Amino acid sequence: MSELRVDVDGVAVSPEHFIDGRRVGSADTFEDRSPLDWSWKLADVARGTAHEADLAVSAAGAAFPGWAALGVEARGEYLDRLADLIDRDIERIAHVECLDMAMLEESLRLRVISRGARNFRAYAQLAREYRARRWSSNGTDNVVLRHPAGPTVVITPWNAPFMLSTWKCAPALAAGNTVVLKPAEWSPLSCSMLMDLVDEAGFPPGVFNVVQGFGEEVGAALVNDPRIRRISFTGSPETGRIIGEAAARNLVPFTAELGGKGPFLVFDDADLDAAAQKAAVMFDDGGQVCLAGTRLLVHDGVFDEFVAKLRAASDRHVMGDSRAADTTLSPLIHPEHLARVRGFVERARESGDVILFGGHEADDEGLWYRPTVIEPHSNDAEVVQREIFGPVLTLQRFGDEDEAVALANSTQYGLSAIIYTSSQERAERVGARVRAGTVWVNCFLVRDLTAPFGGIGISGVGREGGDYALDFYSDLTTLQIKEGTTHG
Ligand code: NAD
Repeated sequence: MSELRVDVDGVAVSPEHFIDGRRVGSADTFEDRSPLDWSWKLADVARGTAHEADLAVSAAGAAFPGWAALGVEARGEYLDRLADLIDRDIERIAHVECLDMAMLEESLRLRVISRGARNFRAYAQLAREYRARRWSSNGTDNVVLRHPAGPTVVITPWNAPFMLSTWKCAPALAAGNTVVLKPAEWSPLSCSMLMDLVDEAGFPPGVFNVVQGFGEEVGAALVNDPRIRRISFTGSPETGRIIGEAAARNLVPFTAELGGKGPFLVFDDADLDAAAQKAAVMFDDGGQVCLAGTRLLVHDGVFDEFVAKLRAASDRHVMGDSRAADTTLSPLIHPEHLARVRGFVERARESGDVILFGGHEADDEGLWYRPTVIEPHSNDAEVVQREIFGPVLTLQRFGDEDEAVALANSTQYGLSAIIYTSSQERAERVGARVRAGTVWVNCFLVRDLTAPFGGIGISGVGREGGDYALDFYSDLTTLQIKEGTTHG
């Protein structure tokens, strides 16, 4: 391929789209800057328009029949090859994603990027293992068949872009669909690197495409294209609504993994040290984690003790360059996002909420915000009810289990919840009453890729994960054959 490359701290990265197996530029570009040092421009990235959206959907449409006809075994070989290449390149991808969105380089290297490889391997294998459901009823033999659905648009947010994109693209490709991926404009580079590996793995042109650019421009053109047969989105509820309208207009199945405002319940029988340590983890990545338990709900009887331990655990955070091994707290992604987080805290202060600690930016220049805990004046406070997506937690007390559950379920969100208790019975009782797609007890972020994943309320529409995802990306046919039908 003859193409433009930019040097991103020693790694050559394409700032262009990847459409129909080759790099394609745009007339316009947008600036991509590093949150580690906002004066550092990483790249001028191609700014896609309706034209590039059309090229990408056309390529995905043309490649679809061939990819669908390959079957799960042959597709799985491509996906496995891609997974091996990701594993080979973990360090490079982790380095660029760290510069681009400021997640800690060590966690990118040790966990997050390799999860991308696992996504491809896991879905290749699950697709191979699928056995059509067969049963007899009403005098017929029933068989459920899965067919590839068609070209699929995947739209992803700026936090953990590589992992979140592969989480959706892997099942779509394994199911036999072709894909157009649009990563977020604030962290576009790691998905571009993925396309180099797609090329190296020898994917047929048009099977897996990336277009770069703004949501309202190229993103809107993609989700409104009537040739698209699936839309999978991760991002904010506001954008989810807009994309959902486009999906409704074209009657296209749509899943959305949206924002969170997870409760973090600490019961009086909990290991308080472990609970406080884990609560301080909610500040990791600058709190820019949809699944974080950002509403601390603590039993009256252990409230003061827990707060003291939380303060100590939070004090151990080290704000700094996300590339350094001793840094534990990264900056926020963008000056606009920092202003948004600051705005939430300032309005909380003005409305009478108590800032227990933090509540301002780091002393240094830059996009770091201090770990912040706020005791709201009421459960209706904005900081309790709206996702902040920064290192800001609220802290409230409860007297008994019923009150804990009522507070946990008192927002419009329902993505995740965390419970700390030493009682198995309570874990199951409360876990079953909390309204969330995923509930972790005495742990956080542990994931089995075959489990259903998604949100309740404004946290999402539909489920992905394991066979739930493969079913979503497939057209299901029920074949009913009258019993006694003979070979003829
Ligand atoms: P966002 O909704 O602003 O943008 C997400 C993506 O949508 C971007 O690629 C953007 O360009 C695109 N987009 C915007 N407008 C569009 C339009 N009209 N048509 C098509 N595409 C459009 O979200 P964000 O700020 O990038 O990400 C943060 C949000 O994502 C938070 O709410 C967070 O909780 C959520 N999130 C959810 C999960 C999950 O698994 N549930 C995971 C990560 C992030």
